[in-house]
Amino acid sequence: MAAEERSKAFYERAVKRLPGGVNSPVRAYQAVGRTPRFIQSAKGAHITDVDGNEMIDYVCSWGPGILGHANPKVVEKVKAACDEGLTFGAPTEREVEMAELLAELVPSMEVSRLVSSGTEATMSAIRVARGFTRRDKIIKFRGCYHGHSDGLLVKAGSAALTTSVPDSAGVPADYTKNTLVAEYNNKESVKALFEANPKEIAAIIVEPVAANMGVVPPKDDFLAFLREITTQYGALLIFDEVITGFRLALGGAQEYFGIKPDLSTFGKIIGGGMPVGAYGGREDIMRMVSPDGPVYQAGTLSGNPIATAAGLSTLRILKEDTSIYERLEKKTAKIADAVRQAAGNKVCVNQIGSLMSIFFTGEEVVDFDSAMTADVKAYAAYFGHMLDHGIYVAPSQFEAMFVSDAHTEEDITKTIAVMQQWF
Ligand SMILES: *Cc1c(COP(=O)(O)O)cnc(C)c1O
Repeated sequence: MAAEERSKAFYERAVKRLPGGVNSPVRAYQAVGRTPRFIQSAKGAHITDVDGNEMIDYVCSWGPGILGHANPKVVEKVKAACDEGLTFGAPTEREVEMAELLAELVPSMEVSRLVSSGTEATMSAIRVARGFTRRDKIIKFRGCYHGHSDGLLVKAGSAALTTSVPDSAGVPADYTKNTLVAEYNNKESVKALFEANPKEIAAIIVEPVAANMGVVPPKDDFLAFLREITTQYGALLIFDEVITGFRLALGGAQEYFGIKPDLSTFGKIIGGGMPVGAYGGREDIMRMVSPDGPVYQAGTLSGNPIATAAGLSTLRILKEDTSIYERLEKKTAKIADAVRQAAGNKVCVNQIGSLMSIFFTGEEVVDFDSAMTADVKAYAAYFGHMLDHGIYVAPSQFEAMFVSDAHTEEDITKTIAVMQQWF
């Protein structure tokens, strides 16, 4: 077993001063009963902890690392940007270039606003949707995650049609009463909510590929149905592309599936490893945003010059490298197929593009309920095996495995060998 002394020592100090010893809960290893690895550095597809263990990384900072870690071109741009100053609180050229590039790569993004996280992007997109439609209610799907703003930390109440309840302490029930919860991949659940609230729903927000209950792709015409029903009822369709954006395709899930949302949100890859988020879409809707319109939204560090340097250079690399998405798909499918062969129907492997999940269940995973049939103890044991053999996967059953362009054939072969040992 690999040495963990230094990680353990840091963790002991960390838990005294940080809740759970971490700054974001998923970094804690509570679900898998291990000590979080404290990271020293990362390069390409490999991440090295403070005890000197070098691991093949399939967390990729939870999505941003599509090029792998510390891509030399990106790092160079960041260093050059640092020399020019860290923040000005005034407009810069790169913000314009970013908005122009967004409109080019994702044609629905006619007008956009940069923020500093995915949470800010989704929270703000919903505010705009409400301001534009002058309606208060929104629909989200059980198991989809859209950041940690009050109105989105919601679960279905016992009578799902009429009640939603906060999914976190500290969120007043008043803040979540306008968030209706439907079932992913279930058209009837959406229809019922519209029929019960025909003129009150401002928007549907959806992860076009759910990736926060493990990876759950949409059924054939589910997204097309959401497009249709929102149009029919005068509601907006918001694609939360914080994970899928620039990952499934250069133009995100909307390009991949050929569905045009009214508004979209981005995070993760768009910052290339630095804090950037964006929301945007149809011009008539986005002109609602302050100072053009009455929907207020602001940010001291929004469009930060260092963060946009990292994001822009990442997006430009993706744009110039036209075969990257094919390569990603191939590599990820290779892992998925190997696991299916080795494990048979003991697991359900969902894979689309460079996103995949191995659910420890014999059932097909198509929604939240089927995801919840997964055996988290079995996952924890598998996680421990992977970690001890130098493969760094998410410390939770319900997170995606991210494959990057930096993963080599050798990395993939080694990963498959370690997986086959387990199954
Ligand atoms: C990560 C994530 C968010 C939140 O982004 P943060 O940058 O962590 O605030 C929102 N939506 C989806 C789909 C995500 O995966």
